[in-house]
Amino acid sequence: MPKKKKPKKPGKNWKKFWKLGMEEWNTQYFDITKDGELTIREGNYIYNLNDIVKKYGSPTEIVFPFILEERLEDLHDYFQAYMKIQGYRGKFFYHYPLKVNQNKEFVMPLISEGAHMEVGSVNELWIVKKLWEGEKFHSKIRVLCNGPKTEAYIKLIEELRLKDLSIMPIIEDEHELERLAKYKGEVGIRVNLDTKADTHWDKKVDRFGFSSKELLDLPKMKNLKLLHYHIGSQINNAKSVMQPIEEAMGLYVKLVKNHPNLDTLDVGGGFGVPYEKKPFYGAKKVSEQIVKLLKKMSDKARIRHPNLAVEWGRYIVAPAQVTIYSVIAEKPIPKANAKSWYVIDGSFMNDLLDTWAIHQKWHIVPVNNANATTLKSVWLAGSSCDSDDKYTSGGSYVLMPKLKEGEPQYLAIFDSGAYQDALASHHCLLSSPAKLIAQDGTIKVARKRETAEAIGRLFGWTNGDHK
Ligand SMILES: *Cc1c(COP(=O)(O)O)cnc(C)c1O
Repeated sequence: MPKKKKPKKPGKNWKKFWKLGMEEWNTQYFDITKDGELTIREGNYIYNLNDIVKKYGSPTEIVFPFILEERLEDLHDYFQAYMKIQGYRGKFFYHYPLKVNQNKEFVMPLISEGAHMEVGSVNELWIVKKLWEGEKFHSKIRVLCNGPKTEAYIKLIEELRLKDLSIMPIIEDEHELERLAKYKGEVGIRVNLDTKADTHWDKKVDRFGFSSKELLDLPKMKNLKLLHYHIGSQINNAKSVMQPIEEAMGLYVKLVKNHPNLDTLDVGGGFGVPYEKKPFYGAKKVSEQIVKLLKKMSDKARIRHPNLAVEWGRYIVAPAQVTIYSVIAEKPIPKANAKSWYVIDGSFMNDLLDTWAIHQKWHIVPVNNANATTLKSVWLAGSSCDSDDKYTSGGSYVLMPKLKEGEPQYLAIFDSGAYQDALASHHCLLSSPAKLIAQDGTIKVARKRETAEAIGRLFGWTNGDHK
């Protein structure tokens, strides 16, 4: 949140004021033009977001595949470099958890950048099947299957294994253990750790995975390859990333004695994103700590260094999309931390559901007039008729330019690439935003803004109804 006092020198450092151009906050690609318009840079190409939204309308989401690619490339580089420096003999595998964003425009760039996959349901695995059958995958790609294993899910896993896909179901409970007892391929197993991380996942009782004791009591399993845990999402600090790894590695060291083919530790997802643009931990440092810890613990126990799998979804994809709305009305608020409501032409409840579900805070920047010298403290209201459809930045306020007569005001919500699409809904039958892809200097319309007819169809209103 920018400070309340007004910036002193207009036109001087708007980039800094709006917290752009900062690598540690993933805004290094963004800037403000002399005219106060928000831009993003891909290599030497610059997209002007104000021009784009004027041309394609709002609300709109813009996806930046180059950010996905860069983030994954960097992550590979960190781990591979530290493994090399420290003489680590295990391998690093990045598995993209499909649930974080299943849009094709997100998935394909990650695959091309070398991501393996993690799926959580039979329908997500169906996407993998399509890609596999279409020969869109490198044949060495690895797929991990989490989530409750329905019969249909297990059948599809079997089918793909027989088609030579490298696929591994991860066993989460007794029932799955029994059901998969005769499974011929390799399997993983999920532990429910005692460590609790500082995350949104604040549940005291967790229903996923076995206790450490249950795992240590398992009879020898020749096809057990991987030990997995997933501790939660948006972990708030580095310590909460490291502690579960230490606990899981302690368990791995014991398990490997009984299960001769166990060779991979999969630390799940959860790595956080600095949505609030406050000091935050980063992957460069933490990856070094992880490699060090795994090396130290395996050397001490005199075991082979395990392969390391990570499933950090949000971390990779959140910064690769912005959502843009236009302000359609202003309404004064008599007594509050903010002076006015700015009503937007989209919906927090529909398009950015975590605003409502987990009180997600967002980084919000004007798309035009970002060099305005006087700013207003506002709350944002969505276009649905629901009183919960709002954003107050946790009861504080958002700074925005004053509205100008006859001129639209657009605003961009950063880091909207993770989770929001699959959670999106149609309260009041509002249309979802259009989805644009900005790549190689061109804008492609991936999904148009929905028409009334398209939404009506979802609710059974087909063409013949008026007859
Ligand atoms: C949701 C999930 C992930 C991704 O979590 P992020 O917080 O997005 O990194 C990874 N693995 C499993 C098993 C999950 O359920």
